Amino acid sequence: MKPIYLDHAATTPLDKRVLEKMLPYFTENYGNANSQHSFGQTAKVAVDNARKTIADIIGAKPSEIYFTSGGTESDNWALRGTAKRYKDKGKHLIISKIEHHAMLTTAKELEKEGFEFSYIGVDEYGSINLDELEKAIRPDTIFIGCMYANNEVGTIQPIEKIVEIAKKHNIVCFTDAVQAMGAIEINVSKLGVDMMSFSAHKFGGPKGVGALYIRNGLDLGKIITGGHQERTRRGGTTNVAGVVGFSEALRLSRESLDKDNEYIKGLRDRFIERVESEIPYVKLNGSRENRLSNNADFSFYFIEGESILMMLDLEGIAVSSGSACSSDSLDPSHVLLAMGIPAEYAHGSIRFTFGKDNTLEEVEYTVDKLKEIIHKLREMSPLFKLNSEVKNV
Ligand code: PLP
Repeated sequence: MKPIYLDHAATTPLDKRVLEKMLPYFTENYGNANSQHSFGQTAKVAVDNARKTIADIIGAKPSEIYFTSGGTESDNWALRGTAKRYKDKGKHLIISKIEHHAMLTTAKELEKEGFEFSYIGVDEYGSINLDELEKAIRPDTIFIGCMYANNEVGTIQPIEKIVEIAKKHNIVCFTDAVQAMGAIEINVSKLGVDMMSFSAHKFGGPKGVGALYIRNGLDLGKIITGGHQERTRRGGTTNVAGVVGFSEALRLSRESLDKDNEYIKGLRDRFIERVESEIPYVKLNGSRENRLSNNADFSFYFIEGESILMMLDLEGIAVSSGSACSSDSLDPSHVLLAMGIPAEYAHGSIRFTFGKDNTLEEVEYTVDKLKEIIHKLREMSPLFKLNSEVKNV
């Protein structure tokens, strides 16, 4: 059996149709989009078309789309840009406790520079606490940021309500839509959000390219100083092939959004149903209803997530323990801890994220192997021996 890839929240395979669109911009149309000659103009037209395609799909104007190197840079720009630009209005910013590290680490850096942050908690399903959010607002609050959907447990946030609260208090509102973009039909104008970040590799596009939507009229300053690219706000030669791939991947993913979501959800639900009925002492983390269609995140009590991950990998099955970005750290996931999951259970967590190329056969095989692995690990676990008499953990 060929390897089974169940880590689509970390990255997705590049869609072959996207690659086809990109290839000419590596070979014959390799011009720099800022050059005056015809090579440059061909590249510029491709970038302009890509910007327009993306803008049309998300309900923005082309002039509101700024290409970046991906979600991390876009998150950095939104947070750092607002802080620096509006510091005379105030030095207080609000984000959730379950943001991606691209946000949390930037916030920690900004704190060292004198900015103050409120980190808003979530309920047991990973949904942001709206009362706490509203109470945290101060006269000097200049930014509210909350991700659209969480990368670990897949919880979709009440983003319309968050925007409503921000607007009521006249505060700039940002959402990180890196995980949501390929799975949810997002329209920035209807939503009324001021900034939104995206990353192409999460929906069949290439790595290293993304965008920040910045509503016209909002001045975020520059993220990378250099040439005149991205209307002088983000210097650096444009990644022409990447941008072309980004727009094609988004177009294709929107074209088959409902069909893909239904198929992926079917696989995911079959997986959840079998794990819950066939493996004892497990907990599905996150919300059952407000959840990305591809995500199943489980805590397996009394054993380590890393051991499960390694043993599944030996069977040719790729999954993640916590988010890929923190998988080199053995600290329990900040998302699960914020949801009130005890550290010992958070340690035994595995994220399975499905994609449109997965099959039902792969799902059945994964559950069969998972059952064997969990059984083996628990046989060796002193914690399990101590607790196996406990009925309601
Ligand atoms: N934000 C979220 C919610 C993510 O899941 C990720 C990547 O996992 C990022 C930001 C970072 O995106 P990128 O890999 O494009 O830097």
